[in-house]
Amino acid sequence: MQIYWTKINKIIEETPEVKTYLLDCPEDFTWEEGAHTHLALEGFNAGEKPNRSLVRHMSISTLPHENSIGITTRIKEQCSEYKTILRTLEVGSDVALFKTHSNVPLKREDKNVYLLSSGVGLATFRPLVLDYLNRADNVNQIHSLNIDSSKDFLFKDVFESAPDKKFTSQFVDYREGYYEEVKNLAADKDGLFYVVGSDEFLAQNIEVLFEQGIHPKQIMLDKHEQTLSKFLSVDASV
Ligand SMILES: Cc1cc2nc3c(=O)[nH]c(=O)nc-3n(C[C@H](O)[C@H](O)[C@H](O)COP(=O)(O)OP(=O)(O)OC[C@H]3O[C@@H](n4cnc5c(N)ncnc54)[C@H](O)[C@@H]3O)c2cc1C
Repeated sequence: MQIYWTKINKIIEETPEVKTYLLDCPEDFTWEEGAHTHLALEGFNAGEKPNRSLVRHMSISTLPHENSIGITTRIKEQCSEYKTILRTLEVGSDVALFKTHSNVPLKREDKNVYLLSSGVGLATFRPLVLDYLNRADNVNQIHSLNIDSSKDFLFKDVFESAPDKKFTSQFVDYREGYYEEVKNLAADKDGLFYVVGSDEFLAQNIEVLFEQGIHPKQIMLDKHEQTLSKFLSVDASV
């Protein structure tokens, strides 16, 4: 396993609780839209076994042409040891990346794409939208629906509806409105539905999508094959 040590080059305060850490891009480090990586803090591999409390999965919120690896995360006042340390890091601090992979690249299958996310889940979708806005080939249109009860919606510069580019972005701040809208979107029986958020959020979205007659093959989750089939088995939603 290759470990890439790199440095933070910028910290963006997206909202009072959400920060984006921009990291220098190591020379041979590359990734696809929708990728996640493991972001590890100094000391994680100091002992015999890796210290898991210093490692988290994180999506990459940028594209390679932006020349930085973006990691966007929410840090609440009451937080884990990992986030407590992350919060103290500054420009120039070292972090490590490893096992980077995309389970949710943008499918170019001449379909309508629906991006359903909760909170910072939108970070996973930012590169998909940028990729689409740059090159719309074989994607009919994209609709993003994000729920964030904090009402501090993220990446408003990218997630702004652009009718000429067939991109629509919708933000809601309450659950009932969110799931009502998911039902409306699922009226498109041929669409591709990407879902990013907590496991509970995934399960609830899948349940609604199944109820509306959406097939498991139309649902994309940032999960490995084995976990994916557990989430998307028809039994899981009953
Ligand atoms: C494929 C994938 C991609 C992901 N991408 C992202 C991403 O882009 N951005 C992102 O932010 N997360 C992402 N996650 C989730 C991420 O890995 C973490 O699980 C998440 O950020 C929470 O980490 P944590 O250290 O805050 O909480 P954890 O230690 O994982 O604990 C879970 C919850 O308990 C609470 N908690 C933990 N310790 C304490 C404490 N001492 N006091 C009070 N509360 C506590 C935390 O608030 C948290 O809500 C991703 C996960 C996966 C699997």
